[in-house]
Amino acid sequence: MIYNEEFETLPREALEALQLKRLQQVVQRVYHTVGFYKRTFDAAGATPDDIRTISDLQRLPFTTKQDLRDNYPFGLFAVPMSSVVRLHASSGTTGRSTVVGYTHRDIETWSELVARCFVAAGLTKNDIIHNAYGYGLFTGGLGAHYGAEKLGASVIPMSGGNTKRQLMILQDFGPTAICCTPSYALNLAEQGGAMGVDMRALKLRVGIFGAEPWSDKMRDEIENVMDITALNIYGLSEIMGPGVAMECQEGREGMHVFEDHFLVETIDPATGKVLPPGETGELVFTTLTKEAFPLIRYRTRDISRLITAPCRCGRTHFRMDRVEGRSDDMLIVRGVNVFPSQIEAVLVGIQGVEPHYQLIVDREGTLDTLEVQVEVSDALFSNADEVRVLQKIERRISKDLKDYLGITAKIKLVEPKSIQRSEGKASRVIDKRQI
Ligand code: ADP
Ligand code: ZN
Repeated sequence: MIYNEEFETLPREALEALQLKRLQQVVQRVYHTVGFYKRTFDAAGATPDDIRTISDLQRLPFTTKQDLRDNYPFGLFAVPMSSVVRLHASSGTTGRSTVVGYTHRDIETWSELVARCFVAAGLTKNDIIHNAYGYGLFTGGLGAHYGAEKLGASVIPMSGGNTKRQLMILQDFGPTAICCTPSYALNLAEQGGAMGVDMRALKLRVGIFGAEPWSDKMRDEIENVMDITALNIYGLSEIMGPGVAMECQEGREGMHVFEDHFLVETIDPATGKVLPPGETGELVFTTLTKEAFPLIRYRTRDISRLITAPCRCGRTHFRMDRVEGRSDDMLIVRGVNVFPSQIEAVLVGIQGVEPHYQLIVDREGTLDTLEVQVEVSDALFSNADEVRVLQKIERRISKDLKDYLGITAKIKLVEPKSIQRSEGKASRVIDKRQI
């Protein structure tokens, strides 16, 4: 099923014509209403009239997170405050948070896009959706909530945290779908297991997980412990919130970017050069329809690649691959670039090891060091007199990290449940170099 058949299956040519028209409009509007864009376009020697084709977008400068911070809180709004009906702020994973605003129409658009996501996941108005994304300034909770209502599904506004209560509601209300971060899904499953809840016997059949990077292996793990189909949803508050892109149940390989509302480019993060579709780089988004907080060429720092091959589901919108990580999350360990999600993919492939881990980066002299702390399974741990088994696992992890990623790391196996669990976005890296 497709929520908005007309727009989600537009032939490429019609889609690009629509994008161009919307692009020209938004560029005109920001130039004339937001001082920041007037200044940066002028400085780049570009005017709104230069946009005659979509690739003319490349004449315009990028907008960065720093620009948002410099204009904190409302400096980039393109409408008066009287037209703004909602404010949100990014969760501030990587520094001071940034503030975004929405008009009535923006909320309408956003709700529709999230409804599209739910339908892509196979949900209908007959589903009950357990929404465990945090409600509040973070866009996850309310974003998913409005989308669920737009679809006409029954939404349980759980928000994050209070895991025991969540498990009770999961059993008593029998939701058929759950939304949360993938790390929280594992946390729920684990605590549920410990409380004797048969997670596979719950009514849940679909999970819509996002807001942080995760791997295909982690997907297998979640699908297995909960007996559900787990799908990936992508978004960021600056561009809208959750629902910028969504995996469809038919494809399950990359997330369709809602291209009638967002224009996506991939660039080389080092040079800013635009890359051909398919190459891995930093995603850059331009909002085509947003009123309160339009963004032109926003550098997300998220590393991914576009998939242009047609999808079985019939949607014509290009897909983006799993986000490997943020360019600012990337660890450089003795010259090798590596993302936490790549390390995770190696860890979850090893028997006896749990998908709970933490990476500790430090410096000895001039050399960066990486310690990987990872939990072992209960069964293995209670057998810990088998020191040899543990040593074998350590050696295996060490070797796999070297073979697959080319990195040298110190491995430390830790007790089950000793690594702090997340109730929202997991924080995987402790960088001691900055302290
Ligand atoms: P913050 O930057 O404070 O975390 P947001 O809450 O808006 O702000 O988070 C958006 C970011 O979350 C994205 O830029 C991306 O890095 C990450 N993210 C969101 N969805 C996904 C996903 N499905 N996979 C990987 N990363 C994601
Ligand atoms: Zn598809």
